[in-house]
Amino acid sequence: MEQPSTKSPLAGYCQGYSTDVDTIRETEYPLLKDTTYLDHAGTTLYAKSMIEEFSRQMTSNLFGNPHSMSSSSQLSTQRTDDIRLRVLQFFNADPEEYDLVFVANATAAIKLVADCFRDSDHRGFWYGYHADAHTSLVGVREIASMGHRCFQSDTDVDSWISDLPTLPTKAPRLIAFPAQSNLNGRRLPLRWCKEVRSAAEKNGGNGYTLLDAASFLSTGSLDIGSVAPDFTALSFYKIFGFPDLGALIVRKSAAHVLERRKYFGGGTVDMVIAAGVQWHAKKESSIHERLEDGTIPFHNIIALDAAIDTHERLYGSMANISTHCAFLAKRFFDRISGLTHWNQTKVCHVYETNGVYGCSTTQGPIIPFNIRNSLGEWAPKTEVEKLATVQNIQIRTGSVCNPGGTARALGWVGQDLLLHYSTGLRCGDAHDLIGGKPTGVLRVSVGAMTSMKDIDSMVEFIEEFYVEKIPPVVALTQPLEETAFAERHFYIESLSVFPIKSCGAFKIPEGKRWEIRREGLAWDREWCLIHQGTNAALNQKRYPRMALIRPAIDLDRGILRISCGVLTEQVSLEISLGWEDTTLISTSTCTNTKRPSTVCGDQISLHAYSSPVVSAFFSDFLGVPCTLARFPSQTASRFSRPPRLSGTWKNRFRKFIMPGSFPSDLPHPVRETNTIPLLLSNEMPILVVSRSSVNRLNESIKANSRQCNGGSKAVAADVFRGNIVVAERLVKLGDAEQPYAEDHWSAIRIGPTQLRVDVLDACQRCQMVCIDQFTGLRSQEPFSTLAKTRNINGKVCFGKYAALAPVETAGFESQPDHRTVMIGDVVMPVYHDD
Ligand SMILES: *Cc1c(COP(=O)(O)O)cnc(C)c1O
Repeated sequence: MEQPSTKSPLAGYCQGYSTDVDTIRETEYPLLKDTTYLDHAGTTLYAKSMIEEFSRQMTSNLFGNPHSMSSSSQLSTQRTDDIRLRVLQFFNADPEEYDLVFVANATAAIKLVADCFRDSDHRGFWYGYHADAHTSLVGVREIASMGHRCFQSDTDVDSWISDLPTLPTKAPRLIAFPAQSNLNGRRLPLRWCKEVRSAAEKNGGNGYTLLDAASFLSTGSLDIGSVAPDFTALSFYKIFGFPDLGALIVRKSAAHVLERRKYFGGGTVDMVIAAGVQWHAKKESSIHERLEDGTIPFHNIIALDAAIDTHERLYGSMANISTHCAFLAKRFFDRISGLTHWNQTKVCHVYETNGVYGCSTTQGPIIPFNIRNSLGEWAPKTEVEKLATVQNIQIRTGSVCNPGGTARALGWVGQDLLLHYSTGLRCGDAHDLIGGKPTGVLRVSVGAMTSMKDIDSMVEFIEEFYVEKIPPVVALTQPLEETAFAERHFYIESLSVFPIKSCGAFKIPEGKRWEIRREGLAWDREWCLIHQGTNAALNQKRYPRMALIRPAIDLDRGILRISCGVLTEQVSLEISLGWEDTTLISTSTCTNTKRPSTVCGDQISLHAYSSPVVSAFFSDFLGVPCTLARFPSQTASRFSRPPRLSGTWKNRFRKFIMPGSFPSDLPHPVRETNTIPLLLSNEMPILVVSRSSVNRLNESIKANSRQCNGGSKAVAADVFRGNIVVAERLVKLGDAEQPYAEDHWSAIRIGPTQLRVDVLDACQRCQMVCIDQFTGLRSQEPFSTLAKTRNINGKVCFGKYAALAPVETAGFESQPDHRTVMIGDVVMPVYHDD
């Protein structure tokens, strides 16, 4: 029999919604199928029927530019006027007391206020902002010529307000704070708006508040009429998912500080004299007419009508959304706070907010946290992000544009951060831990259409991958007895080069010896594809179809032949192995394949192929504007420079060519014995993968999938994109394979000449290993199983980097064909270096 309960355990969930959230999800958010989206603080999502209604409006009306008298123009003007009013009412802002200025986004609203303040008084203005501020508010300090202050705490703000009546009266003062922190969801005291004003009134009245409501409004209901901020900045996409538009809501009695703005443009003036006299008359009619420069984004404004309609129809009110989200945030907070490892240590550290999850006056639905193992070591945020991506979970990581909040949460002070910057830390990069401490957070944020299942999936993800139920097994790198491996016979099972970085493999045919150099196997990563807009090298992680671009080196004909696509509809292109078709471009490109971003400034010159045929070939196939480029010798230390050729490359070099080799009269690069020349900064010359390890991994995948009733399939060794795959020849019947023996190798000796290749670091993996190299399709394996079975210091590792030993290149000039490898060559591991 059910116990009578006073309060349902689901109190607040979907409360007031048109129907339960799962039904809303199914009809209105088809994009959310199969994915767990928990980044609503980045943007929430738009409903299908809103877009359909907007599309209906657009196709059934003729909207002209609002600055004219035609009927189409009048229609636009009338609609935007109506919607302006409707938006004010949405925030309970009386149009008698408030006006609304449409801008691009919340940042533009903030900047508009800052520009107006700068021009409002010849002395400029003074600016105070709360430490929880978004970068968009922090930036205002740069133009506050009367000084600025960052309030470290709420008490700082309170005591400043009580001092305000006695402060010397001077230029205008602007106080800015977020209604909700976008880092931790804390909702700040809105009473400050009225308090600042009444304190300022005792002192000449020159104090104003700028409320950044961008984060708050995505899940909160703001009553502007009763809070009464002077200026409120917001972005509509954060509330409705669409349109990409922002607003500045101005309290009319504070509007006079905005009047002196110097710039004018577009529709903001009644008359301008362009030549002769420098004279213009600003529009007198309304605040928004004087501040909206140029043509207002009228189509976006018109979309707001459908956005508000749909939101009200689905969710009833912002208050309902606030309650629903508070319920989910509390559930997530409670569940992750309760997770413990085998030794009772906590798995998740949730950063303190001063708010209370579940209480929507003090706390919004954003949860910043980090994960620790049972030894108390932090999980690197980019590793968590990679694994989450593979599981179709979308969260935000890093310092989330909230410098003050992040620094305080993580315990960094300004001096630390300056030091981090000087050592290379950049916003959005992969420096996850410095001195063992996290540089950013994992941020989960929920929205109107988040369901219980999303929360549970995220918690289950943490449980599955990060909760240690038993003490960790023996460290993977523990030294083993040499004799355990000594009698094993390894051989080269396959050899691959990847002539175009991140594209398909060229398998070296059996029976062919292939040259190996300090930089790696001949022709490996000699080319790459670059985006024509940014010049950044493309990678398979972003463009999985690159796996279907298969280059082949044909030394007899002196060409690189590239085929794209599946067998039935293949196209191909041939390119000379010489340099004649390229032009040198110098670009600052990001060669860091770990995290494609724009903040890595490696200056590198590339030889790009300028032929439209070449770029069309790759662009058409990938659907990205790109072209082929070749790495130069200077940066790569690969070839010293492109040869100056007379005649064709092929004729000139034919007689010197042995299979897999470079033309021998190319000038040799300058070598330093103790540095390994690298083609790309984060890559090592050769990647060695063990067949036995792949087999072991596949057994684990099968075992895992039985446990989870999943249909995970075994993976091919190709997903690891190794250059050399070594396998074991089992001598006696009953011999077992020795997976991960390579962890203990310090070198290998290959082939009849016992060519020495030093074994270096373990290769750190990302979700790219989940791309099937034959179909270009993504799945969850092997990354999910690797994360569980091959996690070394928080990093997922598989395979070993290697490089030709310096001793092998000492007599470089005299013995060119000494350094080759071939399928079937015996591989003898060296376990300890003497
Ligand atoms: C998102 C956000 C902003 C910036 O919004 P834009 O749309 O990028 O201009 C500013 N402040 C807070 C608190 C935010 O959450």
